Amino acid sequence: MGPPGAGKGTQAKILATKFNLRHLSTGDILREEIRNQSEIGLDAQKFMDAGNLVPDDILLTMMENKLTELNKHGIILDGFPRTIPQAEGLSIIFKNLNSKIDYVINIDVEENALISRLIERAKNSGRADDTKEVIIKRQQVYRQLTEPLIKYYSNEIIQVDGDGTIEEVTRRILQRIN
Ligand code: ADP
Repeated sequence: MGPPGAGKGTQAKILATKFNLRHLSTGDILREEIRNQSEIGLDAQKFMDAGNLVPDDILLTMMENKLTELNKHGIILDGFPRTIPQAEGLSIIFKNLNSKIDYVINIDVEENALISRLIERAKNSGRADDTKEVIIKRQQVYRQLTEPLIKYYSNEIIQVDGDGTIEEVTRRILQRIN
């Protein structure tokens, strides 16, 4: 977990390679659905372009399918759950699949640094949600709907400072997990 721009995707890819996990990024999956003009993609696009979250029921159905399909694999989730109802839904999905969460990692970076990082990334990303207004909107949505998950997972959460180089952040994460 972590706010937009914290480096979740970057670190998730590194951990996936190191521990042989499937990397499931809901942002990437949704962008793929939009490229394919699927029903999910068509529903999701207007929310994403405006910097809003895609409704929980869409995400939960989509992730239930993916997680059921990959149930035999180790998985790293990137960008999901992003709301309390998604976390509650995930807990039911995992119960039904006889699976569980091993670690919850939260990467945090101070908000002004995040906005600068995202504006920099916007120059090459080609993402419709990488304009200044939408970047600020995504930070607000994060604080309102996603940040409460830190409390929700307070028993198991590992807090990692995301300020530093990619390698430094990876090292901090690895020091905290077995
Ligand atoms: P970032 O973390 O930089 O905001 P992502 O690629 O993770 O980027 O997500 C991009 C957009 O995809 C979000 O702003 C949101 O609209 C949508 N999205 C991704 N994951 C979820 C989720 N779990 N629930 C609702 N919407 C999501």
